[in-house]
Amino acid sequence: MSAINGKHRDALVVGGGIAGMQAALDLADQGHQVCLVEKQPSIGGKMIMLSKVFPTLDCCSCITTPKMSAVAHHENITLLTNCEVESVKRNGAGFSVELLQKPRYVDTDLCTGCRQCEYVCPIDLPNEFDSNLGGVRAIRVPFSTAVPQKAFIDLDNCILCGKCERVCPADAVDFTQQPEHTTLDFGAIVLATGFEITPKDAKEQYGGGELLNVIDGLTMERLLAPTGPYGHVLRPSDGKEPDSIAYVQCAGSRDETLGVEYCSRICCMYAIKQAMLLSGALPLADITIYYMDIRTFGKGYEQFYQNAKAMGIQFIKGKVAKIGEDADKNPVLRVEMIDENSQVVEHTHDLLVLSVGMLPGYNPQQIYQVPVGKDGFVQIPAPNLSPCVTTEPGIFATGAATGPIDIVDSIMLAGAAASEASAYLQMNHNGSKPDTHARVGAEKEALHA
Ligand SMILES: Cc1cc2nc3c(=O)[nH]c(=O)nc-3n(C[C@H](O)[C@H](O)[C@H](O)COP(=O)(O)OP(=O)(O)OC[C@H]3O[C@@H](n4cnc5c(N)ncnc54)[C@H](O)[C@@H]3O)c2cc1C
Repeated sequence: MSAINGKHRDALVVGGGIAGMQAALDLADQGHQVCLVEKQPSIGGKMIMLSKVFPTLDCCSCITTPKMSAVAHHENITLLTNCEVESVKRNGAGFSVELLQKPRYVDTDLCTGCRQCEYVCPIDLPNEFDSNLGGVRAIRVPFSTAVPQKAFIDLDNCILCGKCERVCPADAVDFTQQPEHTTLDFGAIVLATGFEITPKDAKEQYGGGELLNVIDGLTMERLLAPTGPYGHVLRPSDGKEPDSIAYVQCAGSRDETLGVEYCSRICCMYAIKQAMLLSGALPLADITIYYMDIRTFGKGYEQFYQNAKAMGIQFIKGKVAKIGEDADKNPVLRVEMIDENSQVVEHTHDLLVLSVGMLPGYNPQQIYQVPVGKDGFVQIPAPNLSPCVTTEPGIFATGAATGPIDIVDSIMLAGAAASEASAYLQMNHNGSKPDTHARVGAEKEALHA
């Protein structure tokens, strides 16, 4: 926490995914002193886990890593990873915020990220970053492009053998580190706490998470990524290259039985993207997408869909009612066809991908007094006119914290949140009464008049 003590600061950004990083950079470029707090040991959020991005098919790591690096090196940004907000109290127009810096058991001022500690650590653990495929050590740099490139120790799984401490050339391992609490003042807060995906075991009818060759969309991202667990697309049960891969759309969205009535917006597009990438990675494989309707909402997205059809990807309009498996662990789907007299058919594939949806990642009600809507995402009182202004003056929200959203829109909303936060800070600084929330109130009244 020494990095921030005693420094003047204006804005706190919570969450270091693409939305939080962009909001922090936009505020910092305007001359504001920003503190970015991320609960994980590295920034990057979900975006750094993706293979390529729709609709441009840019390599995700190649476009996210420079952003992560820009955040870490910006002179107006203090980056606190492995850190969480414990409490927030209003202090005039600003806030007193209590932060908890969790111990890494590695001195980040000394660690050079050489990873020698990883090579001697005797503990193998499933790699969460790779959807638990592949392995990691109890002491590790979070992933190859992590920012900061500093190791941490997963103390719950460490056997305290001391091998890492003995081999570290920088003397950085420090088992005596303790949690640190610090209270700091900020003029404005931007919530960029993102989303979680629907858990694979959410739906009993889809195998309840028990079927080895039924994976979720994020796992397929890792299988397709050049930095992924195998470097190839292999199915989990036997390491075989799949000849037939299928996608089940709306697996976790538009589903009242799961309490998720909304459309997650991104799943059609990421399934189409992955299907295209699979056509390149496994040119002989059959790829099928089972869908109710395809939603291609952004610029160039419909053309992307048409390109996928032209490439030979099969689109079947049907609702998948049940997923089981045969004796060879091949997923077997029972599908109710739409537009064909509701005929029920059974299809078998080698590998099945559930196009899981977006769920709220964090509830800010208790700490920030910011309510969430019926869907669990941050409540935005006037979403059409002020899409990142919350009910609490001085607290703004952006990215997937506000609801299902893709990267393009996350970046735009981050710019908007930074601009609202900057206006709020400047009006306070000039002594004029900040009117952002008064404006929202007026906008809301006008809408309901
Ligand atoms: C399988 C899949 C494929 C996708 N493919 C694409 C694509 O090709 N193109 C595209 O445009 N979009 C794609 N998306 C959507 C994209 O991932 C999101 O739009 C984007 O990641 C949203 O960014 P975010 O920063 O809002 O959230 P996140 O990426 O979730 O980042 C939130 C960050 O906040 C941190 N955080 C959460 N709570 C706290 C807390 N209390 N304190 C501190 N830190 C906290 C988290 O650890 C995380 O680092 C895909 C999504 C999925 C699931």
